[in-house]
Order: sequence, then C-alpha cells, then structure tokens
Amino acid sequence: MDFPHLAGWAALAVTLGAIVFGAGRRLGREEEAQGRRRGELGEESAFYLRGLNFLLADEPDKAIEEFIKFVRVNSETVEIHLSLGKLFRARGEVGRAIRIHQTLIARPNLSQDHRTAALHALAEDFRQGGFVDRAMDAYRQVLNVDSNHRAALAGLQAMHESEGRWDMALEMLKRLEAVTGVPDPRREAHIHVRMGLEDQRPPSNGVGDAGAMVHFREAIRVFPGCVEARRLLGESLLALGRTREAIETFEALKSTRPSHFFMLMDALRRAYERAGDEEGFFRGMSGSLAALASSPRLVIQWAALLEQRGQWEDAVAVLRSGMANHPRSLAIVSPLILLLARRERWQEALEIARRRMDDLLSVQPVFQCSRCGFKSQDIYWKCPQCHQWDTMEPLL
Ligand SMILES: [Zn+2]
Repeated sequence: MDFPHLAGWAALAVTLGAIVFGAGRRLGREEEAQGRRRGELGEESAFYLRGLNFLLADEPDKAIEEFIKFVRVNSETVEIHLSLGKLFRARGEVGRAIRIHQTLIARPNLSQDHRTAALHALAEDFRQGGFVDRAMDAYRQVLNVDSNHRAALAGLQAMHESEGRWDMALEMLKRLEAVTGVPDPRREAHIHVRMGLEDQRPPSNGVGDAGAMVHFREAIRVFPGCVEARRLLGESLLALGRTREAIETFEALKSTRPSHFFMLMDALRRAYERAGDEEGFFRGMSGSLAALASSPRLVIQWAALLEQRGQWEDAVAVLRSGMANHPRSLAIVSPLILLLARRERWQEALEIARRRMDDLLSVQPVFQCSRCGFKSQDIYWKCPQCHQWDTMEPLL
C-alpha cells in the first residue's frame, strides 16, 4: 500500500473508530434505562474490527468489504460515506466513489455543510474520471453555495488551465488569491503569456500584435523575472522596429532573474545588432558581473562568444572566474580545458584537469558492501548499514 492510500485508510479507520466508540458510550448510558440497541452495536463493531484487522494485515479489498457492511448498518453517518468515497477515489475506483457521493447528495435531510462537502467530493471524482464538463458543473454548484470555497476555486482554476481556457483560469486565480490572500505571481504571469500567445495566432497580426503585447507587459508587471514574457515582448518590439525598447526588455532580466539571463543573451545581442550598436552589447556584458557570478550557463555562453571574436585571454579569464565562483561546476571546467588546448596551452590545461580530477577522486567511494550496497571511502570490517562482517569489496 502506498502512502496516500495509507493516509486515506487511517482517516477512515479513525472516523469509523470514533463512531463505534461514540455509539458504545451512548449505549453505556442508555443501557440501564432501556437495554436496547445492543445487538446492532455488536454487529457494527464486529464489522469495524474485522475491517481494521484486514487493513492491518494489508488486505485492503477485504477491509473495504467489511467497512461497506459497517456503512450499511450505520447508514445515517455522513462522514463515513465521505471517507469511504475519498478512499475509493484514491484507489482509482472512481465509479464507486461517484455512486457514494451521488447517493449522499440525493438525501433530502442532508445539512448544507454536508451537501457542499459531498458536491465537492463529487467534483473531484468527475475530474479524476476525466468527466470535464460534469466536474466543472459540480465545482460551480459548490461555489453557488459557498463562493469562497478554496478547494473548489482551486479545482476549477486547475481545470480551466488544463483545458486552455486562460481567461477563465485567470478569473478563478484572482478569486482564489482574494480568498486566500496568497498571490501566485508566477502562475498569473504564465497565464498572461498564454493569453498573449493566443492573441498572436492568425487571423490576428501575429508577432507584434498590440493586444498580445498588453498581456506580455502584464505578465512582466506581476512577475518581472518571467523569461518567456520578456522574450515574447522583446521579439514583438523587434518586429515593430522598436529596438531600444526590446533591448531594455531583454536586458532587465540580468537584474530581475540573473540565473536565467543566459536564455535571452542571444536575443539581446541580436537586438543590439539591429540597433547598429554591437559594441554596446559587449560593453554591457562585460559589466554584468552579478549575472555572470550567478550563472555557470551564462559564463560558458559569454566565453564562447568572446572566443569567436578572437578575445581568447578574456574568454579564459571569464571561465577562470566562473570556476572560482562555481567550484563544483564541471560544465565550466570542460570548455576551459578545451579552450586552453585549442590555444596549445597544454601545461595550464593539464594543471586544471589534474586538480579537478583530484577533487572528484577525493569524494569518490572506494569500498562497497556486497550485501547491502553501502559505499564509503574507508573499509569497515563490520558494515555500518547491514551489520554483516567483512562484506566490503573495493570498487573498480
Ligand atoms: Zn552492508
């Protein structure tokens, strides 16, 4: 049994246990006065205990049968139905879950809270079963009763997203944010990006579409580190010949999200070229020490550009300082060694390769337990993991 099932089972067992216990106490009080219900309670707790035993013996199917008998006897208890329905859904038995929840909702004397809970559970069943329209309908019914129902708002929001209905997804997100007080700027930004991409589709104007650009700008406003929004807005501006604005749009990522700036470096270079200011790009990059320090990818791309321009010394310096900032990054060491080799600076290349090799070897395990797989640099005559004697063999 995996963990989510286990949690579902535990919740059900506790609910059922509380009911049996509560009934027992009730009966204890009533027994002297009336002496009734004894048979019924005995039957209930027998089903419950048998179910629990099957559960502990890891036989969920038999356990479920017992719990269902328990529910039949104790048919008034809504919580059990809700727990059992949830459990069926967690096991992938959506049809059974739907039947349980529909039966509950059909009850005329159900309290408003229980009806909402059952409707929400039904929405989750439909969603898991892939019945999109019915799930959305059930979520909306929950919201008609309780317009601030967080789980229903979140469920409906997620469904609009997966159906690609971005305007509805945004509306639900706004409502959810208002209810929880927790903003989700990254999600909001990417919904705006998707809305903008739809505006770019034919028969509209394509890249440079004014409506699309409004969405990209909005995405950047809510999440300034949104790479995709900056890329799309910058490309739109370039298509319209507004190169200076495009440069600003790309360049701002250096400070708003330096770790991802490498993804826009080529676009920024193109924008500077289009503006007839290629040197401006190289001047700007040389001054981008913070971005370079935070991103090995950027170090590698920047060094490759410098090498292309014949600035070998600068390329070596950039890679060396990158190596100092990211001592564990093999991605930087490899191009540095290759660059030095291309310049026939063998001694330097060899020195760096040897030092990195030593670093790697110093953390490499040397022995491994042949029984349990425990690895270490020293040999243990008694394995610290499986406690067997003399099982450690040298690794090749
Ligand atoms: Zn071992």
